[in-house]
Amino acid sequence: MKAKRIDGKGISDQIKQEAAQESTALQAQGIQPCLAVVLVGNDAASQIYVNNKKKACEKVGILSRSYELPEDTEEAALLHLIDQLNRTPDIHGILVQLPLPMQISEEKVILAIDAQKDVDCFHPMNVGMLQTGRKGFLPCTPAGVLELITRSGYTVEGKHCVVIGRSHNVGKPIAMLLLQQNGTVTICHSKTKNLKEICKQADIIVSAVGKCHTVTADMVKEGAVVIDVGMNRDDNGKLCGDADFDAVSEALGEQGAISPVPGGVGLMTVAMLMHNCIVAAKLQNNLL
Ligand code: NAP
Repeated sequence: MKAKRIDGKGISDQIKQEAAQESTALQAQGIQPCLAVVLVGNDAASQIYVNNKKKACEKVGILSRSYELPEDTEEAALLHLIDQLNRTPDIHGILVQLPLPMQISEEKVILAIDAQKDVDCFHPMNVGMLQTGRKGFLPCTPAGVLELITRSGYTVEGKHCVVIGRSHNVGKPIAMLLLQQNGTVTICHSKTKNLKEICKQADIIVSAVGKCHTVTADMVKEGAVVIDVGMNRDDNGKLCGDADFDAVSEALGEQGAISPVPGGVGLMTVAMLMHNCIVAAKLQNNLL
């Protein structure tokens, strides 16, 4: 018997619906939530991501303002734009789509965004807020992972959670959120020895590596939950996650669960961005 397929579409729709209700309530108080979306250059994947985010805004009742800059934009020009957006009171969130062209320092750009408008939650101030368990933004993909788990009816408390990947924006904050939910967390990475044995002990595995077939059937325990963050292309150019989906699903059995790619974490990232835009609008109007 195969594992339950975690319904990223249904859960992300639910979160967007909640954001839409909150947007309507804010508008009734004269506040129109608004997101500035900045895209530099012609990266095809970035254009798709940005369009998906703008479409989601429209659906949820969040105004989006687009700033499309050429590939050869100088760092100073982008920093100047961010400064203007920081000072524009009716813009609540600022999203600069990464990666940026070589001549622009991502670090400088992240630091330039007003922490109260940092809906991606990349600013060190917001990272620190997350680490210390204070109220504020949660990073979209990690928060989406947690929502997928909890809204599917699974609890984290007391569970052995194995996170594969330790990047600043994905693996580490996922581990931190699971820890805050009282999970017992093991973080694995490219230098981890015995990855298979460690994963075999996990009640919850979150894979954020970026390589097809990182999680195979012989690595999972029956009844475990697998959340697949990976967004990869297989040899035929087809979108796939880190897990060998069909075989892992079979090994997890009917008591287990697995999130698909596509249809899992990717949808949650956009939904949590909508949630963060509402948080930003509230923060800046002293409603939080
Ligand atoms: P990243 O910065 O490249 O980090 C990958 C991590 O995986 C690193 O910590 C690396 O370890 C670890 N790793 C690499 N090979 C490994 C192996 N064989 N065994 C165990 N660990 C290994 O990537 P990222 O930005 O975190 O993204 C990870 C994946 O998530 C990518 O596929 C990305 O496209 C996807 N993603 C999806 C969404 C979404 O919305 N669905 C959002 C963001 C990212 P070291 O630290 O030792 O190098």
